[in-house]
Amino acid sequence: MKIPFLEIDKVNKLYEPQLTNAVTDVLRSSNIVLGENVRQFEENFAKYCGVKHCVGVGSGLDALLITFSAYKQLGVFKDEDEILVPANTYFATVLGITKNNLVPVFVEPNELTFNINPELIEEKITHRTKAILVVHLYGQVVEMNKIRGIAEKYNLKIIEDGAQAHGSEYQGKKVGNLGDACAFSFYPTKNLGAIGEAGAITTNDDNLVEIIRTLRNYGKDNNGDVIYDGFNSRLDEIQAAILNIKLKYLDLNNERRTRIAKRYFTEIKNPKINLPKNSGDKSHNWHLFVIKTEKRNELQSFLSDNGIQTIIHYSVLPTKMHIFEKYIDDDFLITESIQNQVLSLPLNIAMTENEIDFVIEKINEF
Ligand SMILES: *Cc1c(COP(=O)(O)O)cnc(C)c1O
Repeated sequence: MKIPFLEIDKVNKLYEPQLTNAVTDVLRSSNIVLGENVRQFEENFAKYCGVKHCVGVGSGLDALLITFSAYKQLGVFKDEDEILVPANTYFATVLGITKNNLVPVFVEPNELTFNINPELIEEKITHRTKAILVVHLYGQVVEMNKIRGIAEKYNLKIIEDGAQAHGSEYQGKKVGNLGDACAFSFYPTKNLGAIGEAGAITTNDDNLVEIIRTLRNYGKDNNGDVIYDGFNSRLDEIQAAILNIKLKYLDLNNERRTRIAKRYFTEIKNPKINLPKNSGDKSHNWHLFVIKTEKRNELQSFLSDNGIQTIIHYSVLPTKMHIFEKYIDDDFLITESIQNQVLSLPLNIAMTENEIDFVIEKINEF
C-alpha cells in the first residue's frame, strides 16, 4: 500500500462539480477583481469566525505583513519595536515581523502543546515590546486566558497566526476572534484550502480594518490618492469562489479529521511513541497529527519502507535560519528537543479506513 502524506487532488475531487461551476461563473463574469465572490467570502468567513470584519488578501504571509504594516500606519508599532513570537513555528510567521522592520523575540514552547509557553513570556518583555504573535500550531489553540492576562498587564496587542487553525475554538470562541487581529492562510494544504494562493485578516477593530483594506489595494484611498505604501494583495475572485464552497464543509471536515485523530489515539499502542495532547474537544482541528519519539529518524525510514509518507514540521527551525540569525541571543533547547523528535502522520479527509488501519498497524509494528 502507498500512503502519501496528502494528495490534494483527491481532496478537491470530493467537490469537483461544484468547484468547476464556481470557476466557470468567474470566467463568465465581467467583475474579476474584488468582485462579488470576494465580498461574499469576506462576509461568510467573518460570520464563521464570529468577528465584525474579514479582508481577503493574497496569501497567509501577506495577511501577516499587512496586519503589522497597518499597526505601523496607526502609530501603534514603530521601527525596531519588539514582537514576541514562538520559537517553534513556521518561519513565515517570523517574516511577517521582520519585513516590517520590527524585531522578533523568540519564546520557547510548552513541550506538551507545542505552543508558546505563557510562563516564559514575561521574562522576555522589555520597554520596546508591543505585541504577542500567537501561533495556534498544528491546529491547537493557544492558552489565551494567560496570554490576555499578560497583554493587559503590559499593554500589548495580541495578533493571531491562524494559518493552521481554521475552526479551532477556545472557550466557545473561534480562532480569528481571540485577539486584536488574526492572519489566515488558505494555502491548498490547510484545513480550509484554495486551489492556489489566498489569505485573509479578521478583526473587530474598525480603524485597523480600514487601513488593511487600503493597504491590500496599493494603499490607495477612495479618491484615488495613495496614502500608504501599500501592497497588491487582493484575494483572487476564483480563489474566493472556491473558498465559499469549501467553507460550507469546514466543520464537517474538521470533524472527520477529529475522528481519524481519535482512531490514532485509541489504536496506536507503541511505548516508543508519544502521542500529542488530546483535549477531546474543539480546541484542535487536527491540521497536523504530530507524534514524538526518540527514534524519530528510524520510525520515518521504517514507515517510508512500508509506503507511508510522513513529514517533519519543521525540519529547519526559524531560530536556526540564516535570515533570523541576528535576532538570536538565547538558547532554544526545548524547541530543539521537540524538533528532534516530531513526526507528522498522514491525516486528511481523503484517507480511507484501510489506509488509516495500515498506518496504525505499521506504527504498532515498529
Ligand atoms: C502556511 C502558514 C503561513 C503562510 O501562509 P502562506 O499562505 O503560505 O503565505 C504562515 N504561518 C503559518 C503558521 C503557516 O502554517
